[in-house]
Amino acid sequence: MKSLSKIRYLNGLLKAKEISCVELTKRYLDEIEKVNSKLNAYVRITPDEALLTAKKVDVKIKRGEELMPLEGIPMTLKDNISTKDIETTCCSKALTGYVPFFDATVWELLHSQNAVLLGKTNMDEFAMGSTCKTSYFGGALNPLDTTRVSGGSSGGVASAVGGNIAVYGLGSDTGGSIRQPASFCGLVGLKPTYGSVSRYGIVACASSLDQAGPITSCVEDAAIVYDAIAVYDKKDATSQGKRCKAAPNLENSIKGMKIGLLKELSDSANEEVRECVRKAAALFSKLGAEIVDIEIPVLEYTLPVYFTLAYAEFSSNMGRYDGIGYGYRTPYYNDVNDMICKTRTEGFGREVKKRILFGTYVLTKGCYDIYFKKAWKLRGAIVKSFKAVFSDCDLLLTPTVPTTAFKFNNDASENKDEYISNICTAPANLAGLPAVTVPCGFDSRGLPVGMQIIGDKFNDARVLNAAYQFEKQTCDKIYKKTETGVIL
Ligand code: GLN
Repeated sequence: MKSLSKIRYLNGLLKAKEISCVELTKRYLDEIEKVNSKLNAYVRITPDEALLTAKKVDVKIKRGEELMPLEGIPMTLKDNISTKDIETTCCSKALTGYVPFFDATVWELLHSQNAVLLGKTNMDEFAMGSTCKTSYFGGALNPLDTTRVSGGSSGGVASAVGGNIAVYGLGSDTGGSIRQPASFCGLVGLKPTYGSVSRYGIVACASSLDQAGPITSCVEDAAIVYDAIAVYDKKDATSQGKRCKAAPNLENSIKGMKIGLLKELSDSANEEVRECVRKAAALFSKLGAEIVDIEIPVLEYTLPVYFTLAYAEFSSNMGRYDGIGYGYRTPYYNDVNDMICKTRTEGFGREVKKRILFGTYVLTKGCYDIYFKKAWKLRGAIVKSFKAVFSDCDLLLTPTVPTTAFKFNNDASENKDEYISNICTAPANLAGLPAVTVPCGFDSRGLPVGMQIIGDKFNDARVLNAAYQFEKQTCDKIYKKTETGVIL
C-alpha cells in the first residue's frame, strides 16, 4: 500500500536533498497566491516568517544535521492561536490590529521544530459557528465543491489542507470545530483528550470544552502532529500531556477490540451517512474487531446541554473585549461606558452577540438553577455514561456529522442544520474524550462522509490506531477523489 503521509514524504524529500525547504515553501506560497482568492482559506499570509524558517532548515540540511518529523513542513494555524509578532484576530473586527507578544504553547512547540508557517487561516468569529460564515473576513469555501461551506469553526484550516495549500494545520474544537470541517472536506481531524494539548495562548471560547488538534489529509500525519503537540505545559492548569505516543502504535492490530456503534448518534444522521458508517463497521468486523450496539439515552440532551454550557462560558470569556487592553476601539465616544458599549457593538458580529446574550441570560440569578445547573448535572450524567461504556468497550463509532457539507448561501436567516451538525461531535467535548474523524465514503452527490471514532480519556493513540487500520484498507477508494497529491 502506498504511503499516504505527506509529512513523512516531504520530510524524506528534504533529507534526500531532492528539494530545498525554500523551494518547497515558495511552491506552497505560489499556490496560495493562485488558489486563495477562490477558497478564502487564509486571512493572513506570512511569507517572511515562512521563508526565514525555511532558510534555517536548509542550513541544517546542508550541514547534514538530523531533521525532526515536522521540520521544514509548510503548515497553517487557525487565527485563534496566538503567534508572537503576527496579528491574531479570531476573524473578528473586535481583535483587528491585535498582535500578541507571546506564542501559544502549541505554536511554540511546532516553531521550535522549525515548522514553516504559511499563514493564519479563516474561522467563524471567535470559533462560534459551524460554517465559517460568521468570519469578519467572509467564509472559507469547500475545496471539493466551492458552492459549499468548508465547515466550522476551523473551516479555513480544512479549506487550506483540502485545497493543498498547507500540508497540515492546527485548529481548535469546542463542540466539533476540528472534526466537522475535516469531515466536510474529506480530511482527518483529531480532537485530543481534554488536557492533553495545552490551551495556553489559544483564545478562549468555552474553556472547559476547548482543545486544539490537527487537521490533516491522512491519519499518520494526524498522529505525527499529535505526538508533537500533546505535551504537558505548566502554563495551562488543566494540562496533563499524553500517556502514549500515537505514531509508533498505528500498526498495532485491532483484532479483538470491542467497538460500540452508538445508537443515538447514528440515528441522528441521514440515510446515506448512516449507510457509510454501517459499511465502516462491517470493515472493522472483517479486521477482527467485535461490533456491538450501544445506547446512551442521556445523549438525547446533547445539544441543549452543549449550547447552554458553551454559551455561558463563552459570554464570560468575551467580557475581556472592552477596547481598553487590546484589539479594536471605537473612534468616537463620550466616556468610558460609552466607549465600551460602542466598541462591543461595532466589534462583534451577530452570532457572537446572540451567544453573549444567551450565555449571560442562563447565568443570571433567576435562570442559573433552571438552565445552567441543570445542564451541568446532565453533563455529569453524560460523563458517567461514557465511563460505564468504556469499562466494557474499547472504542465507539458514530457518524461525524449527520449530513455532508451544506450549501454556502449568504442568507442571513439561521439554518438549524448548522446547530444540529454538532450533535455527534459535542459529546466528546462534554466528556473530555479523544475523537477522530476519518473519511468513510461519499454520498450520492459525491461529497465526503466522515465517521467518528471516540475513545476513553487519554486513549488518543488507540483512536488513531483504529482510524489508521481502517484508512489502510480504504485509502485507495476514499482518497482517490480528495487526494490532490503532493504539490511537487
Ligand atoms: N460548531 C459549534 C458551535 O457553533 C462548535 C464550535 C467550536 O467547536 N468552536 O458551537
